Order: sequence, then structure tokens, then C-alpha cells
Amino acid sequence: METLEYRCPNCNAYLVFDPKSGKMKCDYCLSDFSVDEVKENNDTRGKVHNEGQGHTHSEEHSSEDYLCYSCPSCGGEIIGDSTTAATECPFCENPTIITQRLSGEFKPDYVIPFKITKKEAVSALEKLYGGKKLLPNAFTKDNRVKKVTGMYVPYWICDCQASGTVRYDATRVRTYTDGRYMVTRTDIYNVIRGGTVAFDNIPQDGTTKLEGIHTESIEPYDYSEMIPFSNEYLSGYFADIYDVKSGDVLERAHERVKASVKESFKNTVIGYSTVTEGQSNINITNGDIHYALLPVWMLNTNWNGKTYTFAMNGQTGKVVGDLPVDKKKFWKRTAMFFGIFAAVAALIALVL
Ligand SMILES: [Zn+2]
Ligand SMILES: [Zn+2]
Repeated sequence: METLEYRCPNCNAYLVFDPKSGKMKCDYCLSDFSVDEVKENNDTRGKVHNEGQGHTHSEEHSSEDYLCYSCPSCGGEIIGDSTTAATECPFCENPTIITQRLSGEFKPDYVIPFKITKKEAVSALEKLYGGKKLLPNAFTKDNRVKKVTGMYVPYWICDCQASGTVRYDATRVRTYTDGRYMVTRTDIYNVIRGGTVAFDNIPQDGTTKLEGIHTESIEPYDYSEMIPFSNEYLSGYFADIYDVKSGDVLERAHERVKASVKESFKNTVIGYSTVTEGQSNINITNGDIHYALLPVWMLNTNWNGKTYTFAMNGQTGKVVGDLPVDKKKFWKRTAMFFGIFAAVAALIALVL
């Protein structure tokens, strides 16, 4: 396995990417270097180890199915799976980048580097816990949130243009009195909407490994900060490569685009009593797809036999997650809520 690590030219400790400064930082002697400096400096541009191939664990499986090699610093065994591209030694925390998994068809086009620090992620999660009155006390007591990890998640980013037309059958109904008669008049319209809409940066999951995390829920990312990929940004984080092929996501992305175009056309068909969508013809052109690694702070924790997952957008700080609920506390709250609701209902009745 070809691996890479970044070392401080002053003290030889590890250099990791620091979200706060956007630089490579040595936590030991506190020197920092810009990513470009590190790229150009041979002293910092870590050591590439050719550790030989990872062992195969059975005849049928090649070494590409999983990852197993000894840590260049402490000799401890580092194990990852077939999609691990950056990890750390579980014994000495040596950050390691598996360059072999970041080349050829797996070389990412872009990256959005972390902007939120681990400290900020931990305090946001603590706040999330703090704000939830329904959490069982036993769950919040342990210092679980400290185990949050920074992970670069593989995404496919699609661009395209959609143009076409949609027809609608619409009616406008008016009722009026004419002498002794009540008249209902229905006018029937054939409405056509057409146009071209450009879509940039539609994100699609590149991994099937993030069970329990709905990656859409931590979107959006600010793609104006997306930059060409470079290994340096991964130092100190975990990273996975894609296991969903671009062709599979492209089709899904185009369906999403067509639905969104139809929606935006339909939103302009207003002032009618009824609108029924008829024939539509929408074509996708200029389709383009890029492979990007996007930052997520993640926490997986077990409690009472169930796994709870939290995720935070590593760029914007948006947090999502499910939390265990204390049933007793839940009912107390619900009763209170209904109490308030009843009071409000009574108030409304009074006003009316
Ligand atoms: Zn140093
Ligand atoms: Zn180690």
C-alpha cells in the first residue's frame, strides 16, 4: 500500500490540516505552513511508504477488498476497508493518507476543506444535547461527544442544462347571476410553458456506507468554496472513496432536474381554477459530473443497543441527528403541549 504522511520540517511531528487557518499545522511546535508551501517543500511533503501489498485474508479476495498494514511510526496494525482513503493509526493517531486510493479513476476533482474545527463540532453537539430536554440523563452523562470524527465524504457533483416544454389543461370557472339564473361559466385553456434552466452543483451521494445519515439533510454546501483536490487537506481526517458509480447517479440527478424544471414551470401557471399537467418534453444537455470530497463531522454512538448518528456539515456547521427519547419525559412534555394547545384553542374560540 502506498501511503503518505506530512511531517513538520522543524520538529518532525505530524502536520494536519487546520480548519481555522486553512493551513497545515504542527500541533507539537505550533508552526504552520500554507498548503502550497507544503506541496512545494520536499521536507514537509511527507514520506511515501511502499509497504508492499496489503495481506489478503482469503484466496478469493484481493488486497483491494480491505486494507491492512503496519503503522510507519509505531508498527501498530492499521485496518481499513475497501473504501478507506485516509485514516489514522488507532494506537499513535498517526494520520495516514492512502495515495493509491486517490489516484486514477479515484482521484477526486474537488474538495471543500473543513472550516469547522473539532472543538466547534463538539460544542455544537453538546448544545444539541443540552437543548433536548427529553434525553435520558444516562445518555448525556458520558462524554460521548468527544468521539466525534472528521470525515471527507465522497459526492458526485452534477451540472447540466434542461430545456423543453410542458403543456397544461387549465380551466377558469366563474359563477354569476343573470336575472333568475345562476350561471356557471367554465373557460378551458391550453397553457404551454417552456424554457431553459441551467443547474450547477447538484450533489449526489457517492457512498452507500453512511447508513443512518441522510446526507441530503446536511446540505447545502457552499460550492463557491470548492477547490481542486489535493492530498494535504486530508491529513488528520478520515476519508472514503466512492462505491457508487457516476453513471448510476447521473440518471438519478437528471430525474431530479426534470422534476424540478416541471415544478418551476408549474409555479408560473397561476390564476386558474384547475390545472392538469399534460404532455411534457424536457431534454438534458451539457451534462457534466465531478467527483468531490466534502467535509462532515460525525458521531456514531451506541446506547441501549441502538446506534445513534449525528452529523454536522464541516463547512457550514448545520447539524442533524436522532437522539434517544426518555419516554417518561416525552409524555410529560406532550401533556404540557396539549395543555397549551387547548388554551390557545379556547382563546381562539373566545376571539371568534
Ligand atoms: Zn513542528
Ligand atoms: Zn501508529
